[in-house]
Amino acid sequence: MTAKTIDGKEFASHLRAQIAEYVARLKNDHGITPGLAVVLVGEDPASEVYVAAKHKQTVEVGMASFEHKLPADVSEEDLFALIDRLNADPSVHGILCQFPVPDHLDERAVVARIDPAKDVDGLSVTNAGLLASGEEGLVSCTPLGCLMLLRDQLGNMSGMEAVVIGRSNLFGKPMGQLLLRENCTVTIAHSRTKDLAEVCRRADILVAAVGRAEMVKAEWIKPGATVIDVGITRIPHPDKPGKSRLLGDVDFAQAVTVAQAVTPVPGGVGPMTIACLLANTVTACCRAHDLPAPEGLTA
Ligand code: NAP
Repeated sequence: MTAKTIDGKEFASHLRAQIAEYVARLKNDHGITPGLAVVLVGEDPASEVYVAAKHKQTVEVGMASFEHKLPADVSEEDLFALIDRLNADPSVHGILCQFPVPDHLDERAVVARIDPAKDVDGLSVTNAGLLASGEEGLVSCTPLGCLMLLRDQLGNMSGMEAVVIGRSNLFGKPMGQLLLRENCTVTIAHSRTKDLAEVCRRADILVAAVGRAEMVKAEWIKPGATVIDVGITRIPHPDKPGKSRLLGDVDFAQAVTVAQAVTPVPGGVGPMTIACLLANTVTACCRAHDLPAPEGLTA
């Protein structure tokens, strides 16, 4: 058996095209342009690359992009004053602060300062609580992207066994909640889970979000399972000195011999994250204007 490779890059490209259509409709029918504000503190090179990619894709779908670069030594007071201004600005529908922030700033306090209705990263306690209680909120972008890929792949997931490896607030917990909402029987595994391989082998849907390169081997996978690889580990490139390559949590070469479908790294889950950030911004914009959030962009 050779599994299907789930092409997240192509899916994300379709999703962005769909978002661009909604954005055009919002402009034409209602005179509204969804706006995303990204706050970057300091000069972390990886964060600068992410912020540039977010800006480019935001503009490409026709939305307004507001970039705010603050010095690494910005005070909490000044950062919060900016967030307060963005919270109050009606042209801004989504706010994201690029993490990590310098050590003197508390990430949880930063997230808590953002209006939950504009928290397009879905990281606030309010949005986590809304998801857990089955109410309408904004869902963390990477799990939302995985859900979209799974829905596309599997359709109805009701009654399936789903195992998520990893229990972070950023990914594992919201992913587990989303799968529960799809009526899966959900197990969230972590570093203390006993017999992890055996737990994983039960899964019709296996989602790995750990950050340990190629830990999921063929014998961890139920034949015919759908495997979503969220993990990212950067290693030196074996053939290109000075370059690096990315590895997922799943041993892809082994997984494709057992599973029905697998996401690759890179090109699987990764491209979905920014596309879902744009989707969340459109959703937040629609809700701010008492319009229904477009189907297909939400959980
Ligand atoms: P995290 O906060 O470090 O969480 C990692 C989780 O893995 C923890 O729950 C930890 O368990 C668990 N874990 C660690 N070692 C384990 C082991 N040996 N067996 C089973 N579980 C183990 O990381 P995260 O933010 O959730 O991210 C996870 C991975 O996904 C990272 O590689 C990250 O780069 C990647 N990621 C990718 C995207 C994307 O856009 N593609 C987005 C987000 C994250 P404990 O809780 O017990 O410590």
